[in-house]
Order: sequence, then C-alpha cells, then structure tokens
Amino acid sequence: MEFEAVIGLEVHAQLLTKSKIFCGCSTQFGSTPNSQTCPVCLGMPGVLPVLNRKVVDFAIMLGLATNSTINKNSYFARKNYFYPDLPKGYQISQYELPICSNGHLIIKTKDGEKKIGITRIHMEEDAGKLIHEGTYSLVDLNRTGTPLLEIVSEPDMRSPEEAVAYLKELRQILLYLGICDGNMEEGSFRCDANVSVRKKGDNKLGIKTELKNINSFRFIQRALEYEIERQIDIIESGNTIIQETRLFDSSKGITIPMRSKEEAHDYRYFPEPDLMPVFIDDAHIENIKNFLPELPYQKILRFREQYGLPEYDIDILTNEKEVADFYEKCLSLYNNPKALSNFFMTELLKELNERKCKIGDTKLNAENIVEIFKLLDEQKLNYNGAKALLPKIIDTGKSPSILLEEMGLMQISDTSTLESVIIEVLKSNKKELKEYLSGKDKLFAFFVGQVMKKTGGKANPKILQELLKEKLAKISIDDVDNL
Ligand code: ADP
Ligand code: ZN
Ligand code: MG
Repeated sequence: MEFEAVIGLEVHAQLLTKSKIFCGCSTQFGSTPNSQTCPVCLGMPGVLPVLNRKVVDFAIMLGLATNSTINKNSYFARKNYFYPDLPKGYQISQYELPICSNGHLIIKTKDGEKKIGITRIHMEEDAGKLIHEGTYSLVDLNRTGTPLLEIVSEPDMRSPEEAVAYLKELRQILLYLGICDGNMEEGSFRCDANVSVRKKGDNKLGIKTELKNINSFRFIQRALEYEIERQIDIIESGNTIIQETRLFDSSKGITIPMRSKEEAHDYRYFPEPDLMPVFIDDAHIENIKNFLPELPYQKILRFREQYGLPEYDIDILTNEKEVADFYEKCLSLYNNPKALSNFFMTELLKELNERKCKIGDTKLNAENIVEIFKLLDEQKLNYNGAKALLPKIIDTGKSPSILLEEMGLMQISDTSTLESVIIEVLKSNKKELKEYLSGKDKLFAFFVGQVMKKTGGKANPKILQELLKEKLAKISIDDVDNL
C-alpha cells in the first residue's frame, strides 16, 4: 500500500517591537529574569492592556507579503488555560476573526513551484518561560506579553522537504520585512508541525499528531520523517493513530507522546472585553503597502532580469537582504555582476560564514571590495593576493591599496625578475623538465606552481605563463644537463 504524508504548520514569530504587545515593558532578549515586567504583563487584577499599534502594522505587512486578505475588522479573544508561565490564566489571542486570512506562499520543490495556502495570521501575546532545575522550577516572566504573529498553513505540504522549504520561505520574508529576527535557537521563530498520513489517492485527511516547538530546520525534517514512518507502521499493522501532541527527542531522533489533543472548546474562548475591536481603514493598508520593502521573490525576479546571473548565484545572493544590498552597492561602483558574484560566493561569504558574522558586524565597505577589483584589473594584485587581503579588510576596514603595501602583496609583473625565478626553477627540477620535454605536458602546471611558491604567490600568473611557455619552447632535451 502506498501512503502519502499531509503536513500543516503553525509558526510563531516573535515581533521586533521595542515594547510588549499590551504594555510598555522592553522585549529585549536575555536580560535578568523578571526585570522586564509590570503589573500588566504580570497579570495583576484591575490592570488594562493597551494595544501596541506597531504589532498591527507588522501583521498587515506580513499579510500583504503573503498575499493574504487583510480583515479590516478583527478582534482579540481570551484563550483560557492554566500554566505557571501564564500569570493571567489566559492568553490574549485572536480566534474567530484574525487580522489576516486566505494567503499563500510559493515554495520551490523538486517538481517545480508549489503554492502553499495560509489559512490565517493572527496577533497574540507570548507566555513566560519555565526554567527546570532538578527538583524545582523557576519562572521568568520577561517574555510574557512579547508580541507574536501566529501563521497557520493549510495542510498543503506532502513531504518533510516541502515543510522545510515553506518554513525557510516564510522566515526569509519575515527577515526581509524586518519584523522578526528569525532566530530559531532563541525561539523567535518556532514551529509546531501537524502531520498525518493517508493512502495515496484518498481525499479524506487522516488523523494527525502535532509535533511541538522544534527549534531547527534539521530537527523538523527528522521529526517529520520519523513521525511519518511511525504512523505508517501503525496503520499497516491494523491499528489507528491517536490524535495527540508529541515531542521530538533530538538526541534519540524519535517522537514521544506529550499530551492528548486539547479541543478549541477546552479553552473557553470569548471576545476580550478589555480591548477594543481592531479596525483598519483602507488608507492605512495602502500606506503600509507603499512602504513595503522589496520581497525575496521580487528581488529574485529583478536580479534575473537586471544582471543575467545564473539561478544558483541569485539564490545565494538574495538569501539574506543584507548580502543582496551589499552586492548591489558594490555593483553600483564596479559594474561586473558575474565577477562580483563569484567573489561573493567563493570568498566573501565563506569568510563571513567561518567567522559566523554578518557584513554589518565587520568593518567591510563596498569601496574596499571594489578597490580589490580595480587592483586586480591594474595587475597590481593577483587573485591569491586578493584572497590574502580579504580577512584584513574585514578586520581593519583599511583600504586594499594600503594593505597591499603593508603586507607586501604587490604582484610581480616585472619580466626580468620572473625570468630569473623561472630559470632557477627549471635548473633545480631537471628530472621534471626532461619529462615535460618528452611529452608530459601536464607538468607545465607543476612549474607554474614552483614559481608561485618561490615568489610567495605574488607572480603575475598571466605573464608568468607566457614567459614560461616561451622559455620551455626554446629548450631541447639535450640542453637540460648543461642548464
Ligand atoms: P486544531 O484544531 O487541532 O488546532 P486546526 O484545524 O486548527 O487543528 O489545524 C492546525 C494545523 O494543522 C493547520 O496548520 C492545519 O493545516 C493542520 N492540519 C489540520 N488537519 C490536519 C491533518 N489531518 N493532517 C495534517 N495536518 C493537518
Ligand atoms: Zn509589562
Ligand atoms: Mg487550531
């Protein structure tokens, strides 16, 4: 029997507002526990929440970026449940009328592009954090009241790969919009994955399980793979799936039961009486639309048309907005899209990855990158030299022409200097020279390498090759011993 997986994702994205959703407390991550709290977010009796309008604007931005309908009328609802990290005893969320609905994203799959529906996007507050230590637990309420957008997808994904592609796309859009930092380790981008399996060709959905709060793309992939296998095994052995919430144990690579599934009516939802309904007028939506930044898929289209780069390059260059912007800044000063793209992919991004840092964390500027290319064009520097310069430029922000002198990387183009090195190399490698002259052409690269070594990598490769070719053409095998 052939099975197919059905996956729907619920993502919680923490918003990059300075203050919380219903009070003025800071949302800064990592501060002293309970130092960012007030009577409102501590859930004291008699206090009243006031909605942070930035949260509404951010929700509208994401709604527009995901082709959603912006509901001009929406309202908040109380979701009642007891837990020690939720001092009020209820979470303020949206239920019947969320701020956005009916959106979609386009993901790339191995069979081409695929549209994934977004059921709804709603605003809500985050809960606090419990820190479990041995026999007791501590409560940190700094996170309580941090604004969240919950983005609920349709059950449109059919494999763990598609689920990960959807999450990456959504995360990238949030980052481009600048409304979430996307940090999965710190929990600013969290995912609950709902998954069921059914016989291929069936229209009816199978019974699902929900995998809670998995904090990396790799774990989401593995958790789903495991869970799909587990469900298929149960059905094949004639049993039925229990609808439940499960946890992924990343050290064992398995999912384990956490609790049986709660139903909406368990939460006793009702409209939040302490907050006004949210009304958004057309002019406001229009205004936000006009200030929306270019989105990943729009940038990809533009890069394709404007720079004619290969798809592979475009994917890498547009992956992060900061990189794309920096690339275009360099390009505005040095109009060679492919040469710059190559340097970005093979040198610059590699260097930044190794340091685990972003362009903005370094002293890099576009002028310095472009100067490297000018020095290469003027043949004052060779590619080896450029590679050696780059880390220093990143660290110091000094101009390449100054570093070039300081580091003694000036390219050697002087023919008499190069010739004497070539002769030296040929003299001390007579065996290889004889082999070359008797037809082993491949050894040409060996001689080039030897000269490069002797010049500390600074020989002008073009001139070196020309000179070497000339020189070798003049030597006959009988001359070798008398060299
Ligand atoms: P619940 O009431 O359990 O929260 P929802 O209908 O609100 O369920 O859906 C929650 C998420 O689960 C959505 O992303 C939805 O696409 C997904 N989902 C719903 N039913 C299934 C199913 N049978 N298999 C896989 N995913 C599902
Ligand atoms: Zn507060
Ligand atoms: Mg639900």
